[in-house]
Amino acid sequence: MIYDVIVVGSGPGGAVAAATLAEKGKSVLLIDRQEFPRDKVCGDGLPGNVMRMLVNQLGIDVPKEKFIHQQIYGISIQAPYGGALVVEEHANTTYSMVSPRYYFDNVLHQYALKQGAKFEVMDVAGPLMGKNGSSDTVVGIVERKGKTTVEHEARVVIAADGASSAIARALRGRVSDSVDTALAIRAYAHTKNPQDKKPIVYFKYLTNLVPGYAWVFPAGENRVNIGLGLFDQEVYRKRGESLKELLQQFIDENSAEGWEVEPGTMKSWPIPVWLDNETRVFKGAYLVGDAGRFVDALTGGGIYPAMITGRLAAQSTIKFLEGAPRAEVEALYDAGWRGGIAKDLNKAKMVQQWVASKPLIFNGIFGFAAMAPSLRGWLLHSLAGQHT
Ligand SMILES: Cc1cc2nc3c(=O)[nH]c(=O)nc-3n(C[C@H](O)[C@H](O)[C@H](O)COP(=O)(O)OP(=O)(O)OC[C@H]3O[C@@H](n4cnc5c(N)ncnc54)[C@H](O)[C@@H]3O)c2cc1C
Repeated sequence: MIYDVIVVGSGPGGAVAAATLAEKGKSVLLIDRQEFPRDKVCGDGLPGNVMRMLVNQLGIDVPKEKFIHQQIYGISIQAPYGGALVVEEHANTTYSMVSPRYYFDNVLHQYALKQGAKFEVMDVAGPLMGKNGSSDTVVGIVERKGKTTVEHEARVVIAADGASSAIARALRGRVSDSVDTALAIRAYAHTKNPQDKKPIVYFKYLTNLVPGYAWVFPAGENRVNIGLGLFDQEVYRKRGESLKELLQQFIDENSAEGWEVEPGTMKSWPIPVWLDNETRVFKGAYLVGDAGRFVDALTGGGIYPAMITGRLAAQSTIKFLEGAPRAEVEALYDAGWRGGIAKDLNKAKMVQQWVASKPLIFNGIFGFAAMAPSLRGWLLHSLAGQHT
């Protein structure tokens, strides 16, 4: 069978792409190498724009889905000198939340299946190449099955296979280079001191971590997601400490919190962060989410960018399947994210380079912001991405 579309990866990017296509009656094979529900190494922070997309664009009824999530009522950002600024969120129906990806991704995955996408567990080795006129084009994917391979054909392939994307590596040569790859580690811990009824998320730009930060996100049920995002690999390579050692140090320094780390949950994963505006369509295949390096270079937030690029890639593909020329719809995809999320991703990159990487400037701006409410709002929103 030749599918209209094969979507590789059923994280937020792939699930939203598959759901959007299936909803319009296209035949979609959604592939992941893992069964769902599955864990994904993440801070689990879901800013308000994720909720707005769930509710307003996908029509997902969050209370009805009953998945485990913690509503967030504010953010606290700590500068390297130790001072912290806090902003409260005014609760409404599309609040920010923290939801372990084990639950959240499964909601999106099940939603894609409900719209009519077919799901298969497969390990994708790379794209299947063929000819479109005289040019090489992706015409499907190659499945790795033990010592053999199996070919699966489709008119379009959407690669949403994350930071280790086999499709991006084959077509672009890499997902990201060390200059645009952050490293992050997270652990779940039980806390003896749960926050009060209105929990907030903590971003701590500690002197020994900048341009990275530590986070503490309440994950519901007296659990916290604690982690470190390290945005300059050179800095950490020189120090010679492993990510696990650094996270353990942070946990030990905060022993008053009474965190009990759940065994086996301290895990790290790379984050391919935003760098440039180059095309994300290669030989007819669309790169979305982490596979396309759509991650905020300051916060490491990539769930919303994955969902929105999944949606945009699907919308362009629908136009192609309904007769629009290939080159035109590919350009439409690039124009869609360039005109949409690129502005925020570029701003985050700039703040990362000029504020978050320079402790003295960071502290200076912070001190000034403590006295100027309008600057304080701008700074907090810039540093926390769309977390409010
Ligand atoms: C420690 C850490 C903390 C983070 N914290 C946050 C946060 O708090 N908020 C936020 O917004 N973002 C956060 N991020 C980033 C966020 O996790 C990613 O940007 C987001 O998951 C990208 O979604 P995606 O759909 O592109 O890819 P993924 O969610 O990675 O999904 C890719 C899917 O593809 C599948 N796959 C991969 N290779 C293959 C293959 N060869 N064959 C078949 N299937 C395959 C995988 O099994 C997976 O299910 C964090 C990242 C890390 C590492």
